[in-house]
Amino acid sequence: MDSALANLVHMWLRELTPTLSRYMIFTFGVWLALWVVLKPVLAPRKVREATPPAHQLATEFLYSMRSMVIFATVGLLTVFIYRAGLYPLSHLADQWGPAWFALSLVAGIVGLDAWFYWTHRLMHDPRLFRRFHRRHHRSNNPSPFTAYSFDIPEALTLVGFVVVWPMVFPMPSYAMQWVMLYQIVTNTLLHGGYELMPARRDGRPMLDFIVTTTHHDLHHAQAGYNYAAWFTWWDRWMGTEHPDYHARYAQAAWRPAGQREVSVLPAE
Ligand SMILES: [Zn+2]
Ligand SMILES: [Zn+2]
Repeated sequence: MDSALANLVHMWLRELTPTLSRYMIFTFGVWLALWVVLKPVLAPRKVREATPPAHQLATEFLYSMRSMVIFATVGLLTVFIYRAGLYPLSHLADQWGPAWFALSLVAGIVGLDAWFYWTHRLMHDPRLFRRFHRRHHRSNNPSPFTAYSFDIPEALTLVGFVVVWPMVFPMPSYAMQWVMLYQIVTNTLLHGGYELMPARRDGRPMLDFIVTTTHHDLHHAQAGYNYAAWFTWWDRWMGTEHPDYHARYAQAAWRPAGQREVSVLPAE
């Protein structure tokens, strides 16, 4: 193999290894923790009665592998963009110290949330849905492996954030890795099938601005609502939050000690 190609393959593998490792650790970790080890303890927090069949999980895993290859390839592209000097804001931000680094993590997550909400809404347009987003919705009852079970255009759309954000925001070079780590942990939990967000006394989520597993589960059950993946504010501002969200959440919620039942949905 000629040395330029060998070097390119080496660089690509250097992107793929952490991407794949993160995926393996967190999806298998969440699956093992929630679906095996803590299953008896968490039984009252299960969002749905039914559990998806093993073949669904295996299919999702295979599609997720393809998404990881896409993420690593686009990751390598950003390395070249950075080296070409096309991320001048990142070069600047690299000198702004740890406080800016911390702030850029928060900004990155808020930015990613907006990117996800709007691109996700777009992908639900009937003209785009079949090509962009049908694979993800084949999992009506999600599992931790659903999180990256994407069509190719959807994987490219999500990772497009990694390319575009440092062009418009002074993001230090290594900050995006941490945003992606947060992204994978929370995204896997959103598809984890168990409601882990503690409830307040009134049955509402303790942190109501955070998207819960029930919130995203409703999107899989009934597309047309709950497009956000991290914060609830876009769905609320845009009027796309499922009207039964809080009632459904209360059914699955981590109830305060001593309180066994909270309000449930009226019979349909
Ligand atoms: Zn969707
Ligand atoms: Zn989903």
